Amino acid sequence: MRKGFLLIISGPSGVGKGTVLHDLMNTQNNLVYSVSVTTREKRPGEIEGVSYFYKTHEEFEQMIKEDKFLEYAKVHNNYYGTPKDFVINKINEGKIVILEIDVQGALNVKKNFDNGVYIFLAPPSLSELKNRIVNRGTESEEDINLRMKNARKELQYINEYDYLVVNDHLNSAINLVNEIINAEKHRVSREDINFEKGE
Ligand code: 5GP
Repeated sequence: MRKGFLLIISGPSGVGKGTVLHDLMNTQNNLVYSVSVTTREKRPGEIEGVSYFYKTHEEFEQMIKEDKFLEYAKVHNNYYGTPKDFVINKINEGKIVILEIDVQGALNVKKNFDNGVYIFLAPPSLSELKNRIVNRGTESEEDINLRMKNARKELQYINEYDYLVVNDHLNSAINLVNEIINAEKHRVSREDINFEKGE
C-alpha cells in the first residue's frame, strides 16, 4: 500500500479554495477532506459535519483541553481546528488527507509533519479577491475589511509553502493542483516498493 500523506491548502478567504477542493474530491480517488471544527456561525447552504462541525466557544475550549486537535487557530475572531484522530487514522489507511486551513494552522502542522505537501492558492490580485468576497454576499462590510487585512498578511507567508497556484481561471487552477497531487503520489519515499512480489 502506498503511504498516505497530508495535503495542506491555504489561501485568503474568497480565493476559491472550496470550489477547487470540491472538484478535486470528485476527480481524484484516495482523497479525504478533513472537516474542521469551528465556532463561527453557519453560512447559508453550509451543512453540519460536511462544511464544518459547529461548536460553541466553551465546547471548543473543552476540546483543546482534551487534546483533540492536530492544530487550531483563531481566525477572524473565531476558533478553527483540525480533529487529530481522523487525520492520523486516514493517513494510516493510505489516504491523502486534505486540510483547508489558514497560514497559522499550516505553519503549526509543518512543525510536526515532515511529509506534508503545502499548496498556497492565491488570487490574481487583491482587488479581484475583494470582488469575489463582495459577490459572495455572505459577509458584513466590517468582516470583508477584516478578511482583506488578513489576506495581505497571509500573502506574506507564500515562501513557507511548496507550491503556489494562482486561481485566475478555475479550471487551470484545478488542473495544476491535480498535477501536483499526481506527482507527489509518486515520490519514491511514498511508494511501497517490492519488485519480488508475485514471484
Ligand atoms: P471560513 O470562515 O471562510 O470558512 O474560513 C476562514 C479561514 O479559516 C480560512 O482561511 C480557512 O482556511 C481557515 N480554516 C478553516 N478550517 C481551519 C482549521 O481547522 N484550522 C485552521 N487553522 N484554519 C482553518
